[in-house]
Amino acid sequence: MTNPDNLIPLLQELISARGPSGQEDEVRAICIRELETLCDKTWTDASGNVIGFLRGVSSEGPAIRVMAHMDELAMIVKRINEDGTLRVNPLGGIYPANYGQGPVEIMADQGILPGVLSIGPQHTTADSARIWEVKVKGGNKAMDWSHPYIFTRKTLAQLKEAGVHAGTRVVIARSRRTLFDIDDCIGSYFMDNRAAIVTLLGAAARMKAEDKQPAGDTYLVMTTTEEIGAHGATYASRTLPGDITLAVDSGPAVEEYGVALTAEPIVVYGDAAGLYDKTISDHLLACGRLLGMDPQCAYWQSYGSDASLSKAIGQTARAALLCIATENTHGYEIIPRDGIGQCVALLAAYLEHPV
Ligand SMILES: [Zn+2]
Repeated sequence: MTNPDNLIPLLQELISARGPSGQEDEVRAICIRELETLCDKTWTDASGNVIGFLRGVSSEGPAIRVMAHMDELAMIVKRINEDGTLRVNPLGGIYPANYGQGPVEIMADQGILPGVLSIGPQHTTADSARIWEVKVKGGNKAMDWSHPYIFTRKTLAQLKEAGVHAGTRVVIARSRRTLFDIDDCIGSYFMDNRAAIVTLLGAAARMKAEDKQPAGDTYLVMTTTEEIGAHGATYASRTLPGDITLAVDSGPAVEEYGVALTAEPIVVYGDAAGLYDKTISDHLLACGRLLGMDPQCAYWQSYGSDASLSKAIGQTARAALLCIATENTHGYEIIPRDGIGQCVALLAAYLEHPV
């Protein structure tokens, strides 16, 4: 059961679970298990979103959908080459260099197969055109997904028998899914958005431990396919009650936005998909200050969330976004260890006193 005072073991379990867009089953199973212990009712909707319902103190309070996405950046097989290597495309905004060469897992129909994201031997010349293109003092081209391949050590017949085909997902191997300590920070792939899932669960666990209830009916929604267009979130925004969708996600800690890698939560006022509700954002800021925090404010020029994308297509009237400051977003992500705890406290405070 979610321990609001130590969320790190749950974060590690969620990071170990595979969750490429549209195939979030392993993450979903953990979310269902935890939400069932915390919520008045838990169910999975037709889009694969997991929803935990927390009854509000009063039916007068605003119904709120709080969202964190279950899916992770991954790859999808485009074709199988004659030599048994796989040509993959990204599922979400990820570049090969953000993963680097290394172990991956191919989620074949018959089970998991090992593979390696590869770029080829470097002791080569222009005769090896694909490798040469991205060599410094060679082709000098930036690497894109036409360059790497998945090494499988399997024949076409073996891959077919294992159930590898166009559409098969390829994910970072479990051996590369271990939390790494760096002073006051922790690093791993997929803090986006497992850190936010832990935040939602932590806020619910904290309210339960303190025998508190949200002011209005609250739907904790663990969403599908955010990384490729927020399809789960837009469906849930349309089908669940309420006018507010509040997303929790990773926020880029970078000078461009004046955002630092600190534990202070980030209140976001707008992104590339639209504006967040200013009344809610201002209120989140005030809630944080009341708790003794100094929340950061941000406007993300290159970003979209479950909430802003829901609003952009008219499925929610009001949107809000809380972020955890993150280094290397959409890569090997690093967050301040206390970032989750602060976000938990702010989210719980908001749900008890929403606007
Ligand atoms: Zn995210």
